[in-house]
Amino acid sequence: MAIAYQRILLKISGEALMGNLGYGIDPLVVQEIAQEVAEVSSHGIQIAIVVGGGNIFRGVKAASAGMDRATGDYIGMIATVMNAMTLQDCLEKLGVPTRVQTAIAMQEVAEPYIRRRAIRHLEKGRVVIFGAGSGNPFFTTDTTAALRAAEINAEVIFKATKVDGIYDADPETNPAARRYQSLTFSHVLTHDLRVMDSTAIALCKENNIPIIVFDLSGRGNIRRAVMGESIGTIVGGSCEIS
Ligand code: UDP
Repeated sequence: MAIAYQRILLKISGEALMGNLGYGIDPLVVQEIAQEVAEVSSHGIQIAIVVGGGNIFRGVKAASAGMDRATGDYIGMIATVMNAMTLQDCLEKLGVPTRVQTAIAMQEVAEPYIRRRAIRHLEKGRVVIFGAGSGNPFFTTDTTAALRAAEINAEVIFKATKVDGIYDADPETNPAARRYQSLTFSHVLTHDLRVMDSTAIALCKENNIPIIVFDLSGRGNIRRAVMGESIGTIVGGSCEIS
């Protein structure tokens, strides 16, 4: 396989693990994702994953219902660890050595986040899953993905979503909507395109880390993206529409 990237950071939202359940984790969906990751990993690609927690708990939502925001955010971060451990289990069932590192100490279930150790794991062919977000309330797992990608020198962020890229209008309501092939960071920021939150985009812009936005449910999409095929939208290039 012709490989475009050697070290990638894959961001999987909590919602992606939920499938059509409405809440929690759909084991079949996680198994499918694990199969895709395992295939790419078997080609020697170094894969780090940041998982979200929105399928279980979101701090902002809890705050709007009256909870202290920081407390809600800590619960949200702990939720991501459940997702991380589930994904680890599925990957290990497929024979892929995997480590979960968390930004909130939970020594009985996962390693603490140690940057140099994470890089070492990747070099040894282990998939590293980062749980507990950045460890700080008021942040998101998208920002965590940008932060960790910069820290481990990932060449690219794969932002897995439910749509196959970024459009100039809502494709669900407007059949004339066109998908961008590529976009600049500035365009995403000034038009508030909500690919990832603005802190995450700004971090990627500053550190020159492109983001590929693609549909995770398309079989083989992670492999295609690793091979440099044009799937979804790449943020970090010029503005081009397909
Ligand atoms: N969170 C946080 N700090 C972080 C990452 C996450 O406080 O660095 C909390 C926040 O409450 C968030 C929740 O964890 O709502 C789940 O993360 P996120 O919403 O980013 O998950 P996703 O949308 O990717 O499923």
